[in-house]
Amino acid sequence: MKWYEKNKTEVLEELRSNMELGLSSEKIEERQLKHGKNEFAKAEKPSLIKRVFHHLKDISTIVLIIAVVMSFMLSLRHKESFIEPLVILSIIVMNLILAITQEGKAEKALESLADLNSPSCLVIRDGIRQEIDTVELVPGDIMVIETGSLISADARILESNSLMVDESSLTGESEPLEKNGLAIPEGKVPIAEQSNMLFSGCLVTAGNGIAVVTETGMNTQIGKIAGFLENTKKGKTPLQQRLDKVGMNISTIAIISAVILFIIGMIQGSDFWNMMLLAVSLAVAAVPETLSLIVTLTLSNGVKNMVKKNALIRKLPAVETLGNTSIICSDKTGTLTQNRMSIKRLCLYGENPVKDSDEFSQNQIEFLKMLACASNALIQIDEDGSPQYIGDATETAIIRLFHEKGLDKDQIEEQYPRVAEIPFSSERKMMTVIIEDPKGGYLVLTKGALDRLPFNKISLENKNKIQKLHDSFAHDALRVIALGIKHIDVLPSEDELESVEKDLDFSGIVGLIDPPRPEAIKAIKSAKKAGIRTIMITGDHAATAAAIAKELCILSEDQKAITGSDLEEMTDEELAASIEDYSVYARVAPADKIRIVEAWQKKGEVVAMTGDGVNDAPALKAADVGIAMGKTGTEVAKSASDMILTDDNFATIVEAVHEGRKVYSNIRKTIYFLLVCNLSEIFVMLFAQIVGWGVLVTPVMLLLINVLGDGIPGLQLSKEESDPRIMESMPVKRTESLFSGGLLHVIIQQTAICSLVVLAAYYVGSYLNIGIQNPSDEIGQTLAFIVLGWTSILHILTVRSRKSIFKRTFLDNPSLVISMACMLLALVIIVIVPSIRTALGLTKIELHHWLIALGLSIVPTIVAEIRKFIDNHSENSEYEELEYSYK
Ligand code: ADP
Ligand code: MG
Repeated sequence: MKWYEKNKTEVLEELRSNMELGLSSEKIEERQLKHGKNEFAKAEKPSLIKRVFHHLKDISTIVLIIAVVMSFMLSLRHKESFIEPLVILSIIVMNLILAITQEGKAEKALESLADLNSPSCLVIRDGIRQEIDTVELVPGDIMVIETGSLISADARILESNSLMVDESSLTGESEPLEKNGLAIPEGKVPIAEQSNMLFSGCLVTAGNGIAVVTETGMNTQIGKIAGFLENTKKGKTPLQQRLDKVGMNISTIAIISAVILFIIGMIQGSDFWNMMLLAVSLAVAAVPETLSLIVTLTLSNGVKNMVKKNALIRKLPAVETLGNTSIICSDKTGTLTQNRMSIKRLCLYGENPVKDSDEFSQNQIEFLKMLACASNALIQIDEDGSPQYIGDATETAIIRLFHEKGLDKDQIEEQYPRVAEIPFSSERKMMTVIIEDPKGGYLVLTKGALDRLPFNKISLENKNKIQKLHDSFAHDALRVIALGIKHIDVLPSEDELESVEKDLDFSGIVGLIDPPRPEAIKAIKSAKKAGIRTIMITGDHAATAAAIAKELCILSEDQKAITGSDLEEMTDEELAASIEDYSVYARVAPADKIRIVEAWQKKGEVVAMTGDGVNDAPALKAADVGIAMGKTGTEVAKSASDMILTDDNFATIVEAVHEGRKVYSNIRKTIYFLLVCNLSEIFVMLFAQIVGWGVLVTPVMLLLINVLGDGIPGLQLSKEESDPRIMESMPVKRTESLFSGGLLHVIIQQTAICSLVVLAAYYVGSYLNIGIQNPSDEIGQTLAFIVLGWTSILHILTVRSRKSIFKRTFLDNPSLVISMACMLLALVIIVIVPSIRTALGLTKIELHHWLIALGLSIVPTIVAEIRKFIDNHSENSEYEELEYSYK
């Protein structure tokens, strides 16, 4: 169907729709059945079999399967029972089940993320304007388009008002295109030239209009493209990639060690098959197969927690970057302040200021009337008689005072009918309204920032006096709105409307207060402690901005406020050189934001930037973490962002940073945990082979420890709470190694101690003559098995916190403590139940052996405790850095 060739009426007829009324509920239901939802066909989820195969391809699983085959052949040769291959097989199955269920959980969490993100749009249905979920759109729906909307279906424009659309997502064309509902291109026209059509996925950068939906879902232009693309694989985040590398490195170490073990065994004349199996199992045991899984779980947990705290992550890598954030550039109005404005003071030209609560003179009432005429906010009286003020916060403040002084807006509007408006924009910082003058002719009312209003000569001669007045307001943190008036006899034509904005008479000013959010002050302080600097960006006057910044503790003695015009005079180099001096940017236009972001980035800082308008999008993209406002933000800003604040609250950003740091620290805990367990396994096996002790623990025992000791409790680390001190240390540099801050040090230390106690256990069991039983290899193996398992499991307690293990309670992470206790017990059961014991090649041990095993197993934890005590009580400045490491 070539929608662009037809005229409006034909299109509406074809779609059986009506521009004023939209579709009726019955038609919508009928069409939803016929056309389906307005969304892309979801890539089919891989079947269970596919997923199983995916995991079987994993290097550690392949090695495990080789182990099964070998152990099977060994059992055949020695005519033994098949218990060993069966145990290994069941371990493979267990690992698979664990991986698939946990991965499913993580995926679900991330999917719901996409759902939360689904945008809404404004439509006319049953004659009523309403906001609906974009997936509900059907062909024939009448869409109301505004600046900042994200178009979510293909549509034919019916009415348009200087509409500009960015179609780069579809055509690659980066300049916004002009769209017009009246134009009807002839012949075969490419998408980029169909100027009366709107396409799904494109952004409205200016203007407004009304359009009728022609195609939805997979039938839209972008849907067709999506259909061609293969299921785009979910990209891995930078941290995940780095961890994959760590995993690969350990696997390599493991495989090399296995080869060495095998060669030594062969030289010492051990059985070929036995050595082969042992080597393979060592490789398996030492590969940290759960690392990648735990990281995915940790990330998805982080995302879930952030949603609970009103921060919606749109791009997964943002979780990590948030943790590294060192600069937060935040809008003032509504984010740092409450955006609940009220007029506190008023001053007419040539008079003294009065308070809002004072009795107003006739002149003052007249002034307030004019100010109200120049505002677009509305009053609605509720059923219970209480007034509701709708509109921009600045204007509702004006209308509220107006109403409170007993004036009636409808009456004023009747008395002074409005004939034209030049709208407010953050660039212009003023707006103009032209009304009919009852005495004949017209009145031009311009309200906005005092320094932007174009006054006439007389007012300019009194500039100093007016400025003083303005400054006295601004120093009390009041936002100033000035009003200029003039009379004209004839109305200029539509095109020359802006020519009226000159030679205004200064009429007076009002001062509005917008109190800071109390939670913002707390959040700024906690960000400061965490080494994060907060920068305030606002369109307000520098003096007002500075006064509020002081209240918010953003502006300290040695820092300054700078205005947009000063900024303009600086070169990028000059700005980069002095950027650290400025904490407040006043009277800025959205385009300045991108320069601020880039200047900080040049200093190596990780910058988070907030924004809500269409013009903020480039800065949001340039920032390391672009943050859009959920309530006041446009779809354009949201689609350019990495994260959305559903409550528009600054404190939420700091919460999200906290969560991001937690994710990073939990991943480091996981590395600490898995590496010590795996490395000590490699080390003791190699050592025993080199000194001629032979097989320290059998392959099956090694595998059991791996699953029971590392796997199951390790997964619970993703839910670990963080040390509150995590927000008291400096942000981690992005380039910093995962092992920095002393982590490598403690990994080596704990690996050494764990290895030592395991070797000691084997030595006691096989060489020391204590108790009734004669020492033997079997007793040695059994003791080594218990101690290796127990130390691995207990190690998780050490990893949990930088503070003493006793500072953590059961309730902090019950599933971790429970799974740990169960696994400790499981090892005991394996050794005391005779049938299991014999099947695994273990032997009965005496009470004093148990006590020795217990004693040895807690040694690594005690050593770690002593180290923590020293670290936490030393005056050493290194402590600050250590903080983050493994907490
Ligand atoms: P912010 O970035 O703090 O939200 P704005 O860009 O909204 O600042 O406002 C900048 C300046 O524009 C204000 O200090 C005020 O002088 C003026 N202003 C704001 N809102 C209006 C309005 N509705 N009408 C006229 N002037 C306004
Ligand atoms: Mg604003």
